[in-house]
Amino acid sequence: MQDQAAAEQTWRAEGTTETFDLVVVGAGVAGLNALYAATDYLPKGARVLLIDQKQGPGGMWNTAYDFVRLHQPHPMFTVGDVKWDWAKPRDYLAKRDEVQTHLASALGPVSNAVELEAAFQQTVVEAEEVQTDCGYQAKVVFRPNGADSPTRTVLAPLAIHAQGLNYTEAAPLPLASSNVVSIIPQNLRQTLNAHPSARLVVVGGGKTGMDTILAALDQDPNRKISLINGSGTNFLNRTKYIPTGLKRWTKGELASRLFRDLALNFDGDNEDHTLSHLRTAHSTDPAGQNGTFLYGLQSEKERAEIDAGLSATLQDYLEDVTDGSNGPAMMLRNGTKTPVEAGTIFVNCTGSFFRGAQMADAIPLLSPNRTLIGVNARDGFHFLTSVAAFFMTHLFYRGELLGKGFYRLDQEALFRQNRNAWVGASAAQAYLNQVIAVQALPVTLLDRCGLDLDRWYPFPRRVAGLLKMKASAKQDKAHCCATLNRVADRFGIRCEPIE
Ligand SMILES: Cc1cc2nc3c(=O)[nH]c(=O)nc-3n(C[C@H](O)[C@H](O)[C@H](O)COP(=O)(O)OP(=O)(O)OC[C@H]3O[C@@H](n4cnc5c(N)ncnc54)[C@H](O)[C@@H]3O)c2cc1C
Repeated sequence: MQDQAAAEQTWRAEGTTETFDLVVVGAGVAGLNALYAATDYLPKGARVLLIDQKQGPGGMWNTAYDFVRLHQPHPMFTVGDVKWDWAKPRDYLAKRDEVQTHLASALGPVSNAVELEAAFQQTVVEAEEVQTDCGYQAKVVFRPNGADSPTRTVLAPLAIHAQGLNYTEAAPLPLASSNVVSIIPQNLRQTLNAHPSARLVVVGGGKTGMDTILAALDQDPNRKISLINGSGTNFLNRTKYIPTGLKRWTKGELASRLFRDLALNFDGDNEDHTLSHLRTAHSTDPAGQNGTFLYGLQSEKERAEIDAGLSATLQDYLEDVTDGSNGPAMMLRNGTKTPVEAGTIFVNCTGSFFRGAQMADAIPLLSPNRTLIGVNARDGFHFLTSVAAFFMTHLFYRGELLGKGFYRLDQEALFRQNRNAWVGASAAQAYLNQVIAVQALPVTLLDRCGLDLDRWYPFPRRVAGLLKMKASAKQDKAHCCATLNRVADRFGIRCEPIE
């Protein structure tokens, strides 16, 4: 009976079904890291398919606002160990188009190793595990963006689904007033040029808000700019943690030590304490009262420029802008009404991630028969999808992903319930999984993870950091596991070892 049921479930390929050795969905930094890592294990000339909705590789770096920059030094934002093809200073913060070009360059070495077909402007509509006459396979169905047909169906022993963090482009804030201008960061430059003397109100104090203030000051240092800061965002102090010149030898702290500090500070219950520890010990505004943290970095110089350039900061949330007999006024959540000049420009910097009405689909980190890997925030290996893709792909091909004690975490569900607990838990998970990876993978491979922020520091300091990590691994892992188990109990979300 069982055999008959299995036979009925067998998916039979049609004549047009093509087969590949690997399919990667998503050509952002995550998908590209997965693809590049996989070439270490695929035979020369293997058939590989890369599918993405965008016009070319680079993911969100194709469509983000034009003045976005990396917040970490550019060498540490890459694909595997692909080097940036230029001689800019190491601490240079690459701009959007530079990042996109660099990410695209990773397809060169991939094409030398495997037979790569890139299918851009194509939308994947189905990715599932099916039983075929040749055993379990990943079936991926896709078609041109916006079209119903023609669809293509492909089979592969493995598909890696790296569709990003459900990042959607913001829309202008819907403001009732007809006497103010409401825009998104993508339209900043042309709007500032068209309204040279208008006040700018930046709504949201995260990375996009900070980028927006700096871009506006760059265009005109005398423009009047206000910030509506919500609960305020803390930024890691780049001056302290990415010191330059000789200070790389003597100052700062390895990022892995910083993660350990956060991970050990959090016990699964004390997230507000962890946040305040982060603010006072590691942020650019230790004396402030900012309430959130999203892993953004900022230098002390940027902080000072922003503070000096702002004519007002409101620690509240904007509800609306309405027109009254005295002109437009901002309505804040605390009930106050603050007049603004007619023509004021409001730019929506209220956040990009996990803001949609719906959570992203919970694509499992690994399908039951190990033919589909999901690199996503609903069943995440690391809060950085780039790092997750690098490690998960290597670990998978080496047979080390399951049963080693690595933790999976529903980052999005936790973030939506409690952002501070997400900070503590994501740090605990990142540190735990790093320590286990250091134990499971050869140093030569670890050294090829160009995304590792510890690489900022000279080799001897990194080796010292690695030895310290190994020395305290046992008790640190025990702490992180206990913390993550407590988070799972408290919030009722998926947060458990990958078995
Ligand atoms: C404004 C902004 C600034 C940022 N700055 C930094 C920074 O400085 N440093 C940093 O480390 N991180 C930064 N990030 C975080 C950033 O999201 C990640 O660094 C990274 O680029 C995400 O890569 P990804 O591959 O996971 O996702 P994406 O870049 O979003 O790539 C996913 C790809 O999957 C494709 N895709 C999705 N669904 C489908 C489908 N059904 N069919 C076909 N294709 C599909 C998409 O078209 C997309 O190209 C920033 C994010 C934002 C929004």
